[in-house]
Amino acid sequence: DKPAAAVVRERPAAPAVLQVTHGSRIVDPTTGLTKLDVVRYYASVAAWVLPHLRGRPAYIKRAPLGIAEPMVFQQHPEGLKGLHGTDPALWPGHDPAIAFARAEDLVAAAQLGMIELHTWNSTDRAIDRPDRLVFDLDPGEGVAWPQMQEAALLMRTLLQELGLQSWLKTTGGKGLHLFVPVAPEFGYEAAKDFSEAVVQHMARTIPQRFVAKSGPRNRVGRIFIDYLRNGWVQSTAEAYSARARPGLGVSMPVRWDDLPALTGGAHWTLVDAPAHLASRKADPWEAYWRTPQSLAGAMRALGFRP
Ligand code: ATP
Ligand code: MN
Ligand code: MN
Repeated sequence: DKPAAAVVRERPAAPAVLQVTHGSRIVDPTTGLTKLDVVRYYASVAAWVLPHLRGRPAYIKRAPLGIAEPMVFQQHPEGLKGLHGTDPALWPGHDPAIAFARAEDLVAAAQLGMIELHTWNSTDRAIDRPDRLVFDLDPGEGVAWPQMQEAALLMRTLLQELGLQSWLKTTGGKGLHLFVPVAPEFGYEAAKDFSEAVVQHMARTIPQRFVAKSGPRNRVGRIFIDYLRNGWVQSTAEAYSARARPGLGVSMPVRWDDLPALTGGAHWTLVDAPAHLASRKADPWEAYWRTPQSLAGAMRALGFRP
């Protein structure tokens, strides 16, 4: 089919036009959404997602033949036309991860079949020290959505008691993610061990709702708070990432006030996310960027020694 054009608008740079091949290829058979829809989606959210990607190693999940066919989780840019790698000096002896600096990079990745965008918890400013913690709320079998909403609030409250503000996003899949921006003071091991201790505290306090152990059998009827995202070279679906699942949900940052009205982890999809973003009066995560919190006090409050 004919190459289609995608117009990329980036604040404040001038629009660029990029060629898309196989734009009419159906990516999601359940909705008929096409590769061009995905490319246009990433072009349209570029200004929202790029601040999250700056200097941050990324992985992508590609669906070259659509999400009903085998997909690839790609950690390196080698062999992927138009994609750039992170500075090799960041992780000596290892192939670089993927680097996104401009809207064109997102479009180039979507042109290569990218559906999902995953990132590390640290950036090139301090690659071995996380600048955020991620708590990934994973519902076990039989957990109803209202329990997920309640769980997110309980988790927010515990973090507040430890002196930590958290920010909420849908995952675009089944659950919710809480992000905690932190000053890059501690290494990955301390960050992961601390987040594990937080989750264990939660599971001990409300065992009928939470588990701190992964594995589907451990969590029937309960919610696993996945702290394993906080380990070295682990990744998490980034804000605004589309998800390679039927319906193409997207991971959407929201205000805590929005939580009661959410209908699920895929409340927004590739189809309605751009209109939602256009209607936003402010960035619900605006203060996220201005809140690099110290973990030291939270560690003390929990009785955790790094
Ligand atoms: P949900 O709300 O449905 O749980 P999620 O994004 O929290 O969505 P998953 O899609 O199960 O959860 O992904 C778990 C994590 O594992 C992701 O954060 C991702 O970065 C990572 N991951 C996913 N696929 C792979 C893979 N093939 N190899 C390595 N890591 C992966
Ligand atoms: Mn999850
Ligand atoms: Mn998980």
